[in-house]
Amino acid sequence: MQTCHGCTLYKHATQAVFGEGSAHAKIVLIGEVPGDQEDLAGKPFVGPSGQLLDEALGAGAIPRTEVYVTNAVKHFKFTQRGKRRIHDKPDRYEIAACKPWLESELELLDPAIVVLLGATAAQSLLGSAFRVTKERGHVLDTPLAKWTFATVHPASVLRAPDDEMRRIAREEFIADFELVGDYFKKL
Ligand code: SF4
Repeated sequence: MQTCHGCTLYKHATQAVFGEGSAHAKIVLIGEVPGDQEDLAGKPFVGPSGQLLDEALGAGAIPRTEVYVTNAVKHFKFTQRGKRRIHDKPDRYEIAACKPWLESELELLDPAIVVLLGATAAQSLLGSAFRVTKERGHVLDTPLAKWTFATVHPASVLRAPDDEMRRIAREEFIADFELVGDYFKKL
């Protein structure tokens, strides 16, 4: 994957960030694209989003050893503003170019549970009409796994415009993982 030229994102990113976790993980979590810290570290979900994700997994009593985390797009996309690199959303061409990597991960892992974190992951695998806001909070029947869930990306919780909205978004995100945890216990 480090030699992939499937789209142009490899040109400016530090490295491709592949998924991470046990090859026997029962749960696969799929985010959007590596962030600034993930790009530098070469690992997914190591920044503030990763901390919130760990908190949500804890709330659902889901051990990290049972989880594999990855992204729909493997190279960081950003706009340089001075010294800062500001995250950009991947477009549909980049998502489609990177999809074979994601599909290969799912094929190899064959998870019982897939959790789609945000619209990019959900639309990459379930089509552009999929709406996370409509489909979160209940189990989905898809070809991806025995049970599929969709929720928002943890970065969107952290980006909520004020403290009250952030508190609500956090509670909803945690509740989504408690539901995933309920299904995990049935495995
Ligand atoms: S983002 Fe995906 S498709 Fe594009 S170069 Fe990187 S690995 Fe290849």
